[in-house]
Amino acid sequence: MSELKLNNGVTIPQLGFGVFQVPPEDTQRIVEDALAAGYRHIDTAAAYRNEAGVGAAIAASGIPREELFITTKLRNGEQGRAQEAFQLSRKALGLDYVDLYLIHWPVPSQGLYVQAWKEMERLYENKQIRAIGVSNFLSEHLDTLLEAAETVPAVNQIEVHPSYQQAELAAKCRSLGIAVEAYSPLGQGSDLNGNAVTAVAQAHNASPAQVILAWHLAAGTIVIPKSADPTRLRENFAATSLKLSNDELASITALESGARIGSDPAVAAFTQL
Ligand code: NDP
Repeated sequence: MSELKLNNGVTIPQLGFGVFQVPPEDTQRIVEDALAAGYRHIDTAAAYRNEAGVGAAIAASGIPREELFITTKLRNGEQGRAQEAFQLSRKALGLDYVDLYLIHWPVPSQGLYVQAWKEMERLYENKQIRAIGVSNFLSEHLDTLLEAAETVPAVNQIEVHPSYQQAELAAKCRSLGIAVEAYSPLGQGSDLNGNAVTAVAQAHNASPAQVILAWHLAAGTIVIPKSADPTRLRENFAATSLKLSNDELASITALESGARIGSDPAVAAFTQL
């Protein structure tokens, strides 16, 4: 499994497993499937309400803690009490430390993300988190954060898939030493049926999902596909061995359409999450 080095030297498996929309009651079983398939990087969030299931799967797996990379995220409604919220997440996961903790959304209307970051910096200094980062941060949110930050975010987890690539934001992150992590990397399934993807898949006897994941990996992006299906999650994991030519990569890059499927971080609030 390819690993990337974050800006503080911590390594992260480039391909992880996302559990957004995995029901709490199914999470342990599905994460156990993912760990058995070889995933060592799991992406959850307090807002997904399935941290306990992730923790139960980790405990049941018997995999040494240091071989795992676990990410969770601060709820939007708890940006004013990040330290307490982090402890609740850590306990739900049953872990002594978390590998990566992210501000889930900037929620600019709340005006609290800089305060949350300051609290996360203290948790990072106290070694309860190995790396801290952000999610859904647009250029202006990064600028505001960096004016006040002592620690540059290790990661910005943003919506990236062939039809919505945010290339300018991704380039800015990389220039600042912030790793780009693609959420909804398959466009929640909507990017799988394009002609260009199908053509490359046929040429390699691979699946469309493997082609898209190989495209992300070739770009140096961290990628966290979700599948609740044991066959598909294995198929996705096998994308690490698929290598595409420059022309094939360019044919996927050409699918940009500018249409996001998630919410606009400039206005999204979700403070009930
Ligand atoms: P994905 O792009 O990972 O797509 C998931 C969908 O694709 C599911 O419907 C899944 O169905 C289907 N799928 C997965 N693999 C295959 C395959 N090989 N063939 C066909 N269909 C497939 O979308 P997500 O939105 O779930 O994003 C992934 C992760 O990113 C989340 O789980 C979460 O961890 C993170 N995320 C973070 C956000 C944030 O705000 N920070 C927002 C959204 C996501 P099935 O399960 O039936 O296989």
